[in-house]
Amino acid sequence: MLRIIGVSFLAIALTLGLGQGPAQSVGSTPVTFPKTSKGLKAPVTLPARLDPTPAYQPQVSCSPVDLVGPRRLRDLVLATYKIGGKGNISRNCVEGLSEHSEGRAWDWMVDSRKAPERAAAADFLAWVTANHGENAKRLGIMYVIYNQKIWGVYRESDGWRASYGHVDHVHISLSWNGARASTSFWTGKIQPKDYGPCARFAGQPAVLRSTARTARCYAPVALVKKSTNAVQAMGSKASTVKGAQGLLGITATGVFDSATWTAVKAYQRKHDLPWTGALDVPTWGSLKPGDVTTDVSKGYSSTSAGAYGLKNFANLTLAERQTGKAVLFAQVALGMANRDRNGYFGPVTTAAVKKFQLAHGFAQTGTVTKAEWTALSRS
Ligand SMILES: [Zn+2]
Repeated sequence: MLRIIGVSFLAIALTLGLGQGPAQSVGSTPVTFPKTSKGLKAPVTLPARLDPTPAYQPQVSCSPVDLVGPRRLRDLVLATYKIGGKGNISRNCVEGLSEHSEGRAWDWMVDSRKAPERAAAADFLAWVTANHGENAKRLGIMYVIYNQKIWGVYRESDGWRASYGHVDHVHISLSWNGARASTSFWTGKIQPKDYGPCARFAGQPAVLRSTARTARCYAPVALVKKSTNAVQAMGSKASTVKGAQGLLGITATGVFDSATWTAVKAYQRKHDLPWTGALDVPTWGSLKPGDVTTDVSKGYSSTSAGAYGLKNFANLTLAERQTGKAVLFAQVALGMANRDRNGYFGPVTTAAVKKFQLAHGFAQTGTVTKAEWTALSRS
C-alpha cells in the first residue's frame, strides 16, 4: 500500500513538473528553458568581438578570498532575478578539486523543485549558453552545473552532459579572467588571457597572486626537501595543524582557519617560501626541520655547497623567483639559516646575496653567477 502511494505520488510529481522532472537524455537542458531570456544587462557597451573561449582552468591554489568577478556576478544575478539564496563563493580546500577553493566559483541557491526559482535559473542558463555560449565567453564562465547536468563552454558542442547533484543550486565556475572581472562584459574590452597562479614545486599548491598573469607558468621543479608531514590547507583538521599553529605563535585549535592562512602567509614571506597560504612541503621543511626526510643538500657545508655550485650551476644566473636545487645550494653556500633554505629565491635570499657581494667586493646585483660561486667555494 505504501509502495503504491509512493508510486502515485511520483506520477503526480512528474505530471506537475516537480522533482527533477522526467528522465532526460544527455544533451537536453537540465530544466526547460524559455524561448527568449531576460538575461543580465552589462554595465558597459559590449565590443562586437567576443572574448576567446575560456579553457578549463582547474583549481591550483588555495584561498578563502571571494574574488571580484564572482562577487559582481552574484550581485547582478540577485538584483536582476530577485530570487534565490546568496550561496557561497569561497570554500575550504579539503573537499576535492573545486574553483570554490580559490574564490572563483559561485553557488546561486535556486531550487530546481520550486517553480519560480527554477524559472529564474532557466532564464539565466538559457542566456549564458545561447549562441554557442556568447555570454559565457563575455563573463568568463567556464562551466555551469544544474539539476544533474553540466555545460562547459570549452565543450560547447557537447551541449548539456550528465553530472550529479546541484538540484538546489546553480554552480558557476569562472576562468581567471572571469574571476578578476576583466572580461568584456565588465570592461567593454577583450583582455589578454590570465593564466592564473603557478605551482613552483611539483605537486604543491600554486603561489597566490592578486593580479592577472599573462605569461604561462614555468614548469614546476621537483621538491628539494621532503617531510613526513602531509600538506594541510584551509579547512584541514589535523594534529599537525595544531603543532604548526603552536610554532606560528597563534591559537592552537587544530583547525586550519583564515587566521592560520594569514599566519602561514606571513611566515612564508619572512622565510622565502612560495607564498601559497598552505602548510605545504617546503613550509613543513622550514617549520619542522626535524621532520625532513629528503634534503638534496644534506651533508654539504657552505664551502662544499659553493664548490658543488661552481661545478654544476656556474653557467646559470640565479635571480629572484627562481626555484630548485641550484637555489638551495646557493642558500647553503651563503650560510643562510636552515629554515630559510627552501630552494626558492625570494627577498631573504636576495638580501643574503647582496650582503655576501658587499663583503667580497662585488657589485650588489642580488644575483648569483660564476663569480659568486667561485667566491662561495672559497669562503
Ligand atoms: Zn558550487
